[in-house]
Amino acid sequence: METVETISALRKVVTAWRMSRQRIAFVPTMGNLHPGHMSLIERARGLAHRVVVSIYVNPLQFGLDEDFYAYPRTIDDDTVLLQQAGVDLLFVPDTAEMYPIGEEGSVKVEVPDLSSILCGAFRPGHFVGVATIVTKLLNMVQPDVAVFGEKDYQQLTIIRRLVADLHIPVEIFGAPTGREPDGLAWSSRNRYLTPDERKKAPALHRVLQTAEQALRAGESVALVERNAREALIAAGFDPDYVEVRELKDLRAPGPDSRNLVILAAARLGKARLLDNVQVRLG
Ligand code: AMP
Repeated sequence: METVETISALRKVVTAWRMSRQRIAFVPTMGNLHPGHMSLIERARGLAHRVVVSIYVNPLQFGLDEDFYAYPRTIDDDTVLLQQAGVDLLFVPDTAEMYPIGEEGSVKVEVPDLSSILCGAFRPGHFVGVATIVTKLLNMVQPDVAVFGEKDYQQLTIIRRLVADLHIPVEIFGAPTGREPDGLAWSSRNRYLTPDERKKAPALHRVLQTAEQALRAGESVALVERNAREALIAAGFDPDYVEVRELKDLRAPGPDSRNLVILAAARLGKARLLDNVQVRLG
């Protein structure tokens, strides 16, 4: 595996691959890799001849009171994992490379509507940061396909929309959420949990599964959301939201909606955990 830090070095490698008609898959990450990330890389390997992974903790997507400085950075361990996974190229740019005129002055990419709901309502500016960095990375790597986790379902929806609306010639592949054996979705932020909180954390997924069953049994969206929120509070969480939305565009569902997703964000101690469950009604 080759590691490059500059856009020009990255372009040299990927241009040579493209000239020899090799398909390129791309998996952007913030590092501190866990099995969830590795499952995306495995998918990517099945989709293309070459796999590029980026590791960049993007300051633009962190609020001032958020964990940008504390975010775990484990580049040496990550490099070993990526090498073992058969990744071809690792891109680790610094902020001067990603934002040559500074983050504040840079062009921003905003996906209206989708950026201000759900997590966007609790993390103002977050999805502008995500949409901006993903657009930049896609322009740098110019992959045939890019793989993102369904774990961050709102992010995936925003990326699908921005790629369609900016006519970026890339296929977006959504990969299923990787979980620990007890159901907790893998996340770099799980390491903020104390041992006691870690024991409570799988309740988030269980609550969403119960909500799924209730929807399937015909319970109303409003009741499902209220019960799920109460169950999270009873399990020791401080929920930001639990909402049932349309799977395709995250709008509020109507009476005829069949393809749904139940999304939740909830705080447990210092960690803010996300999860979602898709529900396709017959
Ligand atoms: P991050 O490093 O947290 O920015 O995540 C990089 C990519 O990995 C994103 O596309 C995430 O949605 C995805 N990802 C994170 N956690 C998981 C997980 N548990 N299962 C599947 N994909 C994940």
